Amino acid sequence: MSLVVMKFGGTSVEDPAAIDRTAKIVAGRVAAGKKPVVVVSAMARVTDQLLRCASSSAQGDRTGALAISSRLRSRHRDTACALVKNPKEASTLANWIDRKFDQLDEILRGLAAILELTPRISDLIVSYGERLSSRMIAAAFAERGVNAAHVDARDVIVTDSQYQKAIPIDAIIEKRAAEKIHPLVQEGKVPVLGGFIASNEAGITTTLGRGGSDFTGALIGGAMHAEAIEIWTDVDGIMTSDPRVCPDALRVKVISFEEAAELAYFGAKVLHPATILPAVKKNIPVLVLNSKNPANEGTRIISLAPHCKSPFKSIAVKKKLSIIDVVASRMLMTHGYLKEIFTIFDKYQTPVDMVSTSEVSVSLTVDSNDKLPLIAAELSKLADVKYEGKKALVCMVGEDIRGQNGMAARVFAAIRHINVRMISQGASEINMSFMIEEDDADEAVRSLHAAFFQQPDPEIFDVEARKPAGANSR
Ligand code: ADP
Ligand code: ASP
Ligand code: MG
Repeated sequence: MSLVVMKFGGTSVEDPAAIDRTAKIVAGRVAAGKKPVVVVSAMARVTDQLLRCASSSAQGDRTGALAISSRLRSRHRDTACALVKNPKEASTLANWIDRKFDQLDEILRGLAAILELTPRISDLIVSYGERLSSRMIAAAFAERGVNAAHVDARDVIVTDSQYQKAIPIDAIIEKRAAEKIHPLVQEGKVPVLGGFIASNEAGITTTLGRGGSDFTGALIGGAMHAEAIEIWTDVDGIMTSDPRVCPDALRVKVISFEEAAELAYFGAKVLHPATILPAVKKNIPVLVLNSKNPANEGTRIISLAPHCKSPFKSIAVKKKLSIIDVVASRMLMTHGYLKEIFTIFDKYQTPVDMVSTSEVSVSLTVDSNDKLPLIAAELSKLADVKYEGKKALVCMVGEDIRGQNGMAARVFAAIRHINVRMISQGASEINMSFMIEEDDADEAVRSLHAAFFQQPDPEIFDVEARKPAGANSR
């Protein structure tokens, strides 16, 4: 029934002008005969600030926490005031925002008294970001002629109780979407929900992990068999590398689910890594679009990408990693040795990104975290252990590296000036990854980009957007 899920990230709802643009984009879809379901993030930077509120109050800095909350209250009140002019609506919304901040302040005061921040309370505090933005945006849409209906995402997205990175329960989400969203769409309304926030089966607030609003969009798209899932952000789509690092990055016009998942997992922040799964299950195309440049066609993520003449589609970087070297004291690794090592990582629920083994040693990379000293202490019962932080994993992704000879030589020639610590060509055969010092990462990406995207395939990359050499000079 031409249902499309439209997810707008923090920068797409960061201030009244951005919310106004978002309303126009949604109105455009309605005018084109589509039935949008809208998912919104918290306003830009709000999630970080709420997390800071929580940790300040748990450390006893009640005044500091309440000061951040007070600034957030003003920002939301001012935004609501700029967006909603109908006096009755405006006063209902302003009172509602005040009530939410009164509740939040109450929680922060309690936290400053008990001085302990549990993951469950952290999720409750951080949920205010999306609860506030979604309600406010629904009101702004209504005033701009979009027949919006606010839905509390926590009534639809049901998860287990792993606070801060809860796992969704698909069957319940499908049922709730049918009960709570579908009838609104049938009535011609545009449901507006907050991303990222959810609740467990007992109704206690959980979240899907940082960047999780994309995942909410995909879950709803999957549950409702949408014809497309649109991820609206602040760049023209998935680019050949992070445009903040590499200003001449090009838009990738079309990419496969598998490639996009690999990029997202290895650090391309443009998409939350879990987003792809619900879309793959139901074969729903995902589009990444720019809310500041809505006319641009963005990136289309589909199950089978067309053949591309360039080996790689994009370069991702994952920073803040640590490398752990486990060197066995005996010469040969005995049977079951790797299992023992992995059991220890499993015990501390620490996923391993990359592994490389030799006869006597194993090197592993993990996200830097505070469990590392404990993991190292346990590992040292088996072998000599060293670990070092400030590492980055560079991951080059493309289905067309399959079976190409000499690719590793080309990659490492491009970064011959950089010290490489670990190398892996994944079993998926669509990525080539290596670990370097974090400080070298940006330079490595720029060198690789220059080497591999000089003559990009125009079928796959938006080469027209590339400025001709010297275009900026006189
Ligand atoms: P949102 O708030 O809309 O969810 P994010 O900040 O999470 O947006 O993601 C968008 C950002 O992702 C971009 O501004 C860009 O800096 C970064 N990014 C990293 N890698 C890529 C890539 N390969 N293509 C596009 N953007 C990327
Ligand atoms: N607001 C959440 C975050 O900043 C979720 C999201 O924006 O996707 O992590
Ligand atoms: Mg994001």
